[in-house]
Amino acid sequence: MLGRLAEQPADKILSLMQDFAADPRGDKLDLGVGVYRDDAGITPVMGAIKQAELALWEVQKSKSYTGLAGDPAFAAALGDLVLGDAAGRDRRAAIATPGGTGAVRQGLELVGLAAPEATVWVPEPTWPNHLSILAHLGRPHRTYRYYDPATGAVDADGMAADLAGLAKGDVVLLHGCCHNPTGADPDMALWERIAKILSDRGAIPMVDLAYQGFGDGLDADVAGLRHLARQLPEMLIAASCSKNFGLYRERVGLLVALAPDATMARRAQGTLEHLNRQNYSFPPDHGARLVTMVLTDRPLRNAWQQELAHMRDRIRDLRGTLAEELRRQTNSDRFDGLAAQKGMFSRLPATPEQVATMRRDHGIYMVCDGRVNLAGLSTKTVPQLARAMVAAGL
Ligand code: PMP
Repeated sequence: MLGRLAEQPADKILSLMQDFAADPRGDKLDLGVGVYRDDAGITPVMGAIKQAELALWEVQKSKSYTGLAGDPAFAAALGDLVLGDAAGRDRRAAIATPGGTGAVRQGLELVGLAAPEATVWVPEPTWPNHLSILAHLGRPHRTYRYYDPATGAVDADGMAADLAGLAKGDVVLLHGCCHNPTGADPDMALWERIAKILSDRGAIPMVDLAYQGFGDGLDADVAGLRHLARQLPEMLIAASCSKNFGLYRERVGLLVALAPDATMARRAQGTLEHLNRQNYSFPPDHGARLVTMVLTDRPLRNAWQQELAHMRDRIRDLRGTLAEELRRQTNSDRFDGLAAQKGMFSRLPATPEQVATMRRDHGIYMVCDGRVNLAGLSTKTVPQLARAMVAAGL
């Protein structure tokens, strides 16, 4: 049996990490893997999470199973953080999942059960895992125009023109904020336009929210998502706590299905729990419980919000510094778009050859499509990246 298996293609980001680790140069720079780093290059355990872990160790009496949906307090607390008052708890069905990836996967499985004929539309470009999960599940899918490399912003008209081709019941995958890999997010006017198109066509949004709080703020980052929740009867949301709570390896995610009313939400809840049962039974609980503790305890929540604001400010400052440095070194404004983008990622306008040159000559590692994780920079290394970009002819 095992002999019949095909070789899987190497994961580009994971093999980049291996190449980076094997590079002996002292001034090498890893802008590949998508984790937050502080100025010292560390991906820290957040202080509020450490405090919650201590408290949990004291009070937790049992690690027996939770419910199939996970702890309902987690779904309520994280659902509130995401949706605010845009959709009441009676409209929400929700399950805890292993990370945001688990939520994406379960969301697409739900689409397969409810509407196997629906086409799932994803932005071009998108997080590559969206496409590979869609292919793995055999869900019909296609892309819509999203990014304009000339401006570094969303191609609003291209996107609207493509989405005009939606059929009733199709599903449109959108990044809630801090688009991966481009950093280009819709402004509020475009979110309103998207809501109108989806409403007119009878399509359903599926919002992947992996970076709430990394762009402009916890509420600002979900203003578009909340607008969709108010305007449309149905929506799926795949939320991840990997980045904004720094809980990567604990695998903390939530899939929310917003229904038009409480009766339909209850039915959706049953299907979501069924999906958890089929795939892994009970979702992981440790990280989810820490998130609930942080969100429902005023002092812990304040501490977490401050730490998150610090991370957000660091990324924003690095973007500004890099754009300024490039303006100085290139004597042009063609990289100014970097400062307006949101979150950790940007896609540099580099060919695969230029990416290889920057790696070979300057020890700078990025994904071959030019995606860089700006949190991998520090104020000291920004000029190094700018110099390498100029030398590679970007
Ligand atoms: N969606 C997007 C767009 C992402 O960038 C990521 C993280 N790389 C995820 C979902 C899922 O992250 P995780 O499963 O680690 O929570």
